[in-house]
Parts: sequence; C-alpha cells; structure tokens
Amino acid sequence: MSEPLHIVQYPHPVLRTVSKPLERLDQNFQSTIRGMFELMYAAYGIGLAANQVGLPFRFFILNLMADPNQPEHEQVFINPEIIKRHSGEEGEEGCLSLPALYGKVHRAKRVRVRSYNLKGELVEVDADGLYARAIQHEIDHLDGKLFIDYLSVLKRATVSKQIRQFEKDFAESQSIGALASTETLQSQVNLIRTASVVPAPVLPPRLPAGVERPSGSRETTA
Ligand SMILES: [Zn+2]
Repeated sequence: MSEPLHIVQYPHPVLRTVSKPLERLDQNFQSTIRGMFELMYAAYGIGLAANQVGLPFRFFILNLMADPNQPEHEQVFINPEIIKRHSGEEGEEGCLSLPALYGKVHRAKRVRVRSYNLKGELVEVDADGLYARAIQHEIDHLDGKLFIDYLSVLKRATVSKQIRQFEKDFAESQSIGALASTETLQSQVNLIRTASVVPAPVLPPRLPAGVERPSGSRETTA
C-alpha cells in the first residue's frame, strides 16, 4: 500500500475480514507496531487491531492508560487465543473504527490469553475487567467482528442512524474518488493477506506525544 498507515473506518471491508496468523516477524514489524501506537494515542484509544489499519493479520496492541508517556503499559499480542473465560458482565465500549458510537456489550469478566510477544515468545496472561474487555474486543476485530454486532435490539435501534451515517460518509468518499470501491478495497486486502509477513508500512508523519485527553472521551475506545 502506498497510503500512510491510518485507522480505517466502518464499513471498510477489512473490518469484516477474518485475519490470518502471522508466520514470522521481520524488521518491518517493529515500525508497524510503533506507527499503530502513535495512531492509537492520537485517537485517544486503548487498543488497536491490525485490521483497523488495513492489515489483515492476527495481532493487536493495547495500552490501557491510553498514554504515550506510559510506554511501560504497552502490550503487543500476536496470534492471540483465548484459552479460558470466566463469568460475564456488561460494560460500555467504543471503537476507533466507529468514532463517537458507544454501547453496552456483554463479555467474559476474566480471560486467559495465549499469544506471542514481540520477542516471539509464547506467553499467557490472565486479564480481568477493562483489560479482559479490551482483549475480547480486539480479538473480535481479528475475526471480522465489531462490537455493534452485539448491541441489544433496542440499543441498535438508537444507534442505527449513526451507523447509517458512517455508511453514507463512506459511500460519499467512494463517489468522489477519495476511497476506492468496496470491491477494489477487498481485493487489496486479499492481496496483502497472501503475504507471509506484514508489508513494510508507510508511516504517517510523527504525531505529537502527550496530547491532552478531550473531556468527552470514554475509556473503552478500542
Ligand atoms: Zn474496535
């Protein structure tokens, strides 16, 4: 892709694509990860899945503090798998690919996840609360699922106008040529998916670190 790495919005077809396991990590991978963290921080998110930046591979990043000044909270999950789930609870979620749309989703309260880290080591983590919720939200992305798929019929009705607006805006961008047709976008995704490693990213210009959080932002946008 010649476009700089950026967060794609619903209804981009990559968000409905089941992502492929990564076979190996190469040198490009670190810069892709850095680029993703910068995009996530600039959007005040706590998590970001690879397909949200147009890469149909199974990995995602998290920083529950949403703060570039706390890099010690940065985590990368590669080829993640939930191997245990315990009880459930409802909580509000948002998504960087559906900005300013929020809704309650029922998720497991605690999960155990097995994944590879950046060093290529297989690790297991136990997560609960917001941590567990964010992991489940991101793994759903890798399976082509979005949190709006889980909203109650009632909630869905209240946000249907917002969802239709995303679809209209997307179609509008396509009609003026700012975005390729859905068919072309899907074939670009399919082409990237055939690679065994993440292609070298075109990184966006460096984004300012330590940006102020807007007062309206929620804690669970991922
Ligand atoms: Zn999301």
